[in-house]
Amino acid sequence: MKSETIAIHGGYEVDPTTKAVAVPIYQTVAYAFDSADHGAALFNLEVEGYRYTRIGNPTTAVLERRVAALEGGLDALCVASGQAAVHYATLNVTELGSNIVSVPQLYGTTHTLFAHLLPNQGVIVRFAASDGPDEIEKLIDDQTRAIFCESVGNPAGNICDIEALARVAHKHGVPLIVDNTVATPILLRPIDYGADVVVHSLTKFMGGHGTTLGGAIVDSGRFPWKEHARRFPMFSQPDPSYHDMIYTDHYKEAAYIGRCRSVYQRTTGSVLSPLNAFLLLQGIETVALRIDRHVENGRRVAEFLRKDPRVEWVNYAGLPENPFHGLARKYLGGRACSLITFGVKGGLEGGKKFYDALTLIKRLVNLGDAKSLACHPASTTHRQMSPDEQRNAGVKPETIRLSVGIEHIDDIIGDLDQALKAMESVQQGAVR
Ligand code: PLP
Repeated sequence: MKSETIAIHGGYEVDPTTKAVAVPIYQTVAYAFDSADHGAALFNLEVEGYRYTRIGNPTTAVLERRVAALEGGLDALCVASGQAAVHYATLNVTELGSNIVSVPQLYGTTHTLFAHLLPNQGVIVRFAASDGPDEIEKLIDDQTRAIFCESVGNPAGNICDIEALARVAHKHGVPLIVDNTVATPILLRPIDYGADVVVHSLTKFMGGHGTTLGGAIVDSGRFPWKEHARRFPMFSQPDPSYHDMIYTDHYKEAAYIGRCRSVYQRTTGSVLSPLNAFLLLQGIETVALRIDRHVENGRRVAEFLRKDPRVEWVNYAGLPENPFHGLARKYLGGRACSLITFGVKGGLEGGKKFYDALTLIKRLVNLGDAKSLACHPASTTHRQMSPDEQRNAGVKPETIRLSVGIEHIDDIIGDLDQALKAMESVQQGAVR
């Protein structure tokens, strides 16, 4: 099936008992056992079935199958937020003393997790000087357990050369983990280019309405964990925390996601609620349609800003002069995402005047909503970074990030224009 169809039908057959066409919300914590032996068999993973919603839930399972199918993966685990997905995806391959090599252009909280929290758990993240494959390769050593990147960086808008990064990762026997939140599988499927694991904040374009937090980890099922057992003993050695389970024996190709659920989801519990799984499924039904409109509106806004003399610079991979334009053609079919960063004339002060004058476009920290949104990363999402780290992540002091929504384009551009006028009149008043 094509993505548009998977987004609506993927992972769900009409319920055989009730004939419910919409995915039912299984708002239950636990599931009854037929007998003591049945309960034991479920816990031994000898029979299929649900035990406790922290480990699995039928509504969430539909979302997991749908997201996995959209990404061209084997299986997925859905969790409470995008941050939980990034955390679990990286914990699942690391141990005390190991490291991950990451691109520098990251969402601010992922940077904080990598720079401050993972090191406290004994895992060092090495940030490369750029997203170039050579810069990444330089940092790989015997203790490296993964390469991490965002397919389209938030807010840098850089587009990673996933095929080249996957080649480097596989040459050194480690997986490539890609955060595909900004692109969504409608524009790009990293697994098609060699990525091993894909993570998502479903909170953004996938859910699409700014109502529901959620995250997903998708396993391609392709990384040969057994072949690289020296680096990844956790998949092919008996696990004493789960009655000596050997994940590659039990889950076969799905060893990565099986272990993620059995170890991290079960013991640390960043669980997506069944109601949120339902709301995200509702959102995903229209993701392909919405992305079409986001992309078209993004292009029109970027063209408006680029021509406007009140705007100093615009960063949008859809523009031919953008350094990532070639990669946008290769990986996004030329359909650059609707995340645009720009700076107005008048720097930080001018930017603040512009930002405060917006009316339709909301001032906040979120992206991927049907509504148009504006964010000032340096003072919010990327505030914990040093000035150098901000620069490497593509954040300038004056950067404004727009997530262009799906309203009528005339209204979006009208709001930008009136805010630029308001900024200009304040600046002219100051000069007089
Ligand atoms: N990854 C990216 C690229 C993001 O932009 C975000 C949030 O903005 C996250 C992960 C974290 O997602 P959540 O807010 O669902 O935890």
